[in-house]
Amino acid sequence: MNETMQKLIKLSREIGREERRLAILGEGNTSASLGDGTFLVKASGASLSTIEEAGITRVKADVALAALDDASADDTTVRAVLEASRVDSNAKLPSVETFLHAVCLFEAGAKWVGHCHAESVLSIVCSEHGAKPFLKHLFPDAIVVCGRNIAVVPYLDPGLALAREFRKALHAHHAQYGSFPKVVLMENHGPVALGASDTEVFNILLMLDKWARIIVGTLSVGGPKFLPSEVSDRIDNRPDEHYRRKQIAAQNK
Ligand SMILES: [Zn+2]
Repeated sequence: MNETMQKLIKLSREIGREERRLAILGEGNTSASLGDGTFLVKASGASLSTIEEAGITRVKADVALAALDDASADDTTVRAVLEASRVDSNAKLPSVETFLHAVCLFEAGAKWVGHCHAESVLSIVCSEHGAKPFLKHLFPDAIVVCGRNIAVVPYLDPGLALAREFRKALHAHHAQYGSFPKVVLMENHGPVALGASDTEVFNILLMLDKWARIIVGTLSVGGPKFLPSEVSDRIDNRPDEHYRRKQIAAQNK
């Protein structure tokens, strides 16, 4: 088994651990680029907590990305595209979120991606607040680990429609801030973490989970007291925080 496959299984099982309350049953999906125009992604219906090699499918990125550009491709043709995207035609059908993973890995600079339905995050993005409480910061570590600005996508049917909107949000974020986000929150659905390594993806999801629980906590004691945006900018740009990021990244290797 190759190293990326091994790491992807480990990351998936960690995200799927029941006590973390990030994903249950077939919820969530993970992926990793293989650096040759293909990537590994969870197969449709596989459970993150118990996933094995057979529950992960190797996919050709260009086939998945072409469907996003093809205006005639819609949800009735998705199955055929997913079938055609497999490197091994005997492999299981990749997740319907394969398109979204292809965008993160091949257009937004990520090497690893994790998506889950974290109970804490959903408590907020399924509320009247939507993703709004995540648009300002409450404490420094969320800025260091999850990035200064997150991207938000409104609820859309999983599949091509969602991936197209997701792609637009990533490019709009890059146009506005000069970099791609580490976190995309899909309202009424769940978070996506974009990382340079398996550990970075896991750290982002853990910190986001903590951040969400803190937001919910502050709402129960009078409401959040957000950091002023210039303070968040300073934390994002402080040399010692850059050092801290490097240390975290080094641990990821
Ligand atoms: Zn999902």
